[in-house]
Amino acid sequence: MDQPLTLPPGRDIRLADFDPGFTEGLDREAAEAETRRHCDKLDELAYRLFAEAKRAVVVVLQGIDTSGKDGTIRILASGISPQCLDVKSFKAPSALELSHDFLWRVHAAIPPHGTIGVFNRSHYEDVVVVRVRKLVPKDVWQGRYGQINAFEKLLHDGGLTFVKCFLHISKQEQRERLEERLKDPKKQWKLGPDDLADRQRWDDFTQAYDDALSECNTAHAPWHVVPADKKWYRNLVVARLVRQTLERLDPQFPKFDSSLLTKLD
Ligand code: AMP
Ligand code: MG
Repeated sequence: MDQPLTLPPGRDIRLADFDPGFTEGLDREAAEAETRRHCDKLDELAYRLFAEAKRAVVVVLQGIDTSGKDGTIRILASGISPQCLDVKSFKAPSALELSHDFLWRVHAAIPPHGTIGVFNRSHYEDVVVVRVRKLVPKDVWQGRYGQINAFEKLLHDGGLTFVKCFLHISKQEQRERLEERLKDPKKQWKLGPDDLADRQRWDDFTQAYDDALSECNTAHAPWHVVPADKKWYRNLVVARLVRQTLERLDPQFPKFDSSLLTKLD
């Protein structure tokens, strides 16, 4: 199987075609060493993006509960200076947020130029959880695919690069992680009643993600399916994707004004 994959736009994505346990033949030690190398490089690249202050990046992390969104953020934060990072978690919308269009809170959370935003959940909740829990009628969530594509295009044209990552775990792996949360007093706080109820609707979530990833896999903001049963492989894939994105952007330090050299007394 060809993994991890960034699929060409226009092709339907079926998560069932992707192996969540894929590790490209690497073992944990090799993957962790490579992740550290990416993180070291990330720090330098993020610093250049910050100095250039003309473009921004948003890493979108989506995935079912326990897929590792928090852990992935920890890895990115271990490599990038906090002043270059802007982490935002999207919870169920507040009354104020619900009184606006669904993209209002997302647009407000887009980081300024020079910054790498990390979204722990995102506007994709509005076509996934909202659909599965039937929070809005079908024609409303269906209309949102086009709205999301137009929104992401607007941001892309304004100098924003999206790195959209779907953290793909198996149903068995989720069972083990939920079990751990149930037993470990340091993890129990993460469990809410919704998490176990959502697991009952695994197939509905998978269908909603298949559709969201297929409908919103565009040339200007493609999706990446990240095999995430092995946390160390997930970390490697995301660190590598962000590094490659920044290398492609190749941010430059602003031109130095050499007249300043004469001004230091
Ligand atoms: P967590 O990320 O575990 O803190 O949980 C946040 C919860 O907020 C999850 O159950 C999400 O599905 C839910 N959530 C996030 N965005 C939305 C949204 N737009 N509408 C409804 N629920 C949402
Ligand atoms: Mg949760």
